[in-house]
Amino acid sequence: MRRLDKEEGCLFLPNPQAPMNTERIARKLCQNLERLPYLPFVTDEELGERLDPEVIQAFRLLESLNRAQGICYRCGGKCCHEMGCELFSPELGGCPIADYRPLLCRFHYCEKFGPEHEGLVKGLRDLFVSAAAHGEAESRVVLGLELNMLLYRACRKPDDHCPHLVENMRQIAAAAHRGEMSWQEAKGKFREEVETYRSMKQQEANLALAGAD
Ligand code: SF4
Ligand code: SF4
Repeated sequence: MRRLDKEEGCLFLPNPQAPMNTERIARKLCQNLERLPYLPFVTDEELGERLDPEVIQAFRLLESLNRAQGICYRCGGKCCHEMGCELFSPELGGCPIADYRPLLCRFHYCEKFGPEHEGLVKGLRDLFVSAAAHGEAESRVVLGLELNMLLYRACRKPDDHCPHLVENMRQIAAAAHRGEMSWQEAKGKFREEVETYRSMKQQEANLALAGAD
């Protein structure tokens, strides 16, 4: 396998000739994400169009490792479980919305990817945190990240407003747990929820644009 971090001077590793510029990449990423109306749910293609080549290479390297060694598959989604994501269930055998999975999931890798990739894993995490910090309060990016956190329950308080989408996902999971629908059906319904949310947000953005003309 090609060693991106060794052969191509990856930006995430300390290199005196090519110092890391997480700040610049994060600012650009944040600006580009701002134009996506349906955050936090993004496809590979949509994200790929908005990332610097160095970041795309980092993702490719870690994803090809993941595919070759089944790292997340063998782990069974420990991080998804620990964060309390509504979409995580061992019965599903993986993320039910993998191709739309939120930004935070896409930037998260862990120590199981090996000590030789520690710098890359940390670099992606720093980039995500830095991109979030660049978003204006109440901006689309920051709201997208907050929804991300809702999906993870991590910052939820009892009186937090719960978006319709998250409530629907809870109900789907509860129905599958009660045996009222199969996990395969639940997976389809999770995806439908995300697709409906994306279309609704796109329509809202189109209407806002038409209104501004
Ligand atoms: S990122 Fe790490 S903790 Fe999360 S599923 Fe993959 S191997 Fe498991
Ligand atoms: S949405 Fe993210 S945290 Fe939830 S199951 Fe999918 S990858 Fe895991």
